[in-house]
Amino acid sequence: MTKETAFPDTAPLEALISVSSRVVTISHFRPDGDAAGSLMACTLFLRSRGVEVTPVLPCPLADYLAFMAPPQSGLLDFETSPDAVEAVIKSADLIICLDFNRLSRTEYLEDAIRASKARKVLIDHHVAPDREDFDLVYSTAEVSSACELLYRIILNMPEIGGEVSRIPLEVAEHLYIGMMTDTNNFANSVSPSTFRMAADLLEMGVDKNALQFKVLNNHTEPRMRLMGHLLKDKMNVLPQYGAAFMILTADEKQEYSFRPGDAEGFVNLPLSIAGVNLSAFFTECRDEEYVRVSLRSRPGTDVNALARGWYNGGGHINAAGGRLFLPTEEIPAYFLKSLEEYFGK
Ligand code: 5GP
Ligand code: MN
Repeated sequence: MTKETAFPDTAPLEALISVSSRVVTISHFRPDGDAAGSLMACTLFLRSRGVEVTPVLPCPLADYLAFMAPPQSGLLDFETSPDAVEAVIKSADLIICLDFNRLSRTEYLEDAIRASKARKVLIDHHVAPDREDFDLVYSTAEVSSACELLYRIILNMPEIGGEVSRIPLEVAEHLYIGMMTDTNNFANSVSPSTFRMAADLLEMGVDKNALQFKVLNNHTEPRMRLMGHLLKDKMNVLPQYGAAFMILTADEKQEYSFRPGDAEGFVNLPLSIAGVNLSAFFTECRDEEYVRVSLRSRPGTDVNALARGWYNGGGHINAAGGRLFLPTEEIPAYFLKSLEEYFGK
C-alpha cells in the first residue's frame, strides 16, 4: 500500500469544503450497506462540523438498511422525490460521490450531476474510476470498502487528528456497517487495516453485536424460505468451469413476497462448495426489463473482467455486477458461453 493511500491528504478536501455552503452527498443505485454507510457517515461527519449537507440516492434504501437514514436524516431519493433531488443537485456547490467509480452508477442522477456546476469529489474503492469527471479523487482498491477509505480521510481531518475517539459515535456506526457488509461480515477483502479499523471503532464504543443483529440477522421468514428453494432447486454447478449459478425469476419473487435487498448475500453461498471458484446470481427485474447480475469469485478468478466483458457492468476483482437484456430462459446458455469465452475453452 502506498503512503498516499494509507494517509490520504485531506487538505484539498478541506479547501473545497471551506468554500462550499450547499453540499450534496450521493451514492449508487440499489445502495448496499457500504453505499448507505459511506453516504450517511460522510453526511453526519460534515454536519457535525456545521456544514449544510443533503444526502441523495437514486432509489430508496432496502428495508434492512432503512434504519440507517430515518426521516429526520433528510435523505432524499429520486424515485420518491425527483424534483427535490434535481433541485438540490442543481443548486449544490459541492457534490461528494461515495462508493462508485462511474457516474452511470447513479442511474437517473447522472445527467443532473454532470450538468451541475458544483465541484465534484469522489471517495471510492473500485478499480479504474472515471477521474476526468471529478475535481478531486480519493480512490484505492486496497481497502475493504468505501467506508474504510472514508474512515482514513476522517481520521486525517484536523479536528480528529488521528484520534478515533473524536469521531462522533453515529458516524463510527455507519462506517462500521459499510465495512461489515462489504466484507460479508469480515470474510472477504479484509486486510490487517480492516481489523485495525474494526478494533478501533469497537474500542470507541461501536456496539458490534447490535449492528450485526440489525443488518445481518433481521430477515423475514419468506426470505429464508426463498434461500432454501434457490439452493435446493435452482443452483446449477458447472464443475468444468469451477462455477455455479442461480436464477431468481419474477414469479418466484412474487411467490416469496420478495422485497428489495432480500437476495443480498445469496451469490456468496455456492462459493462454500469445494471446487466452486466463481458464482453468478441472476435476478429478473420485470419492471425494468433486464436481468440483474451479481458475480463473486475466490482469489485467482477476476469477475470484474467477466462483468465488464460480458455483463455490461464492473466492480471489483472478486465481487462485480452488471445487467443483461435477455429473457431468463436464455441465461443458462449465455452464462455458459461467457465462461467458455472468458476461460478460452
Ligand atoms: P452486487 O453483486 O453486490 O450488486 O455488486 C457487487 C459489486 O459490483 C459492487 O461493488 C458494485 O459496485 C459492482 N456492481 C454491481 N452492479 C454493477 C453495474 O451494473 N455496473 C458496475 N460498473 N458495477 C456494478
Ligand atoms: Mn463498496
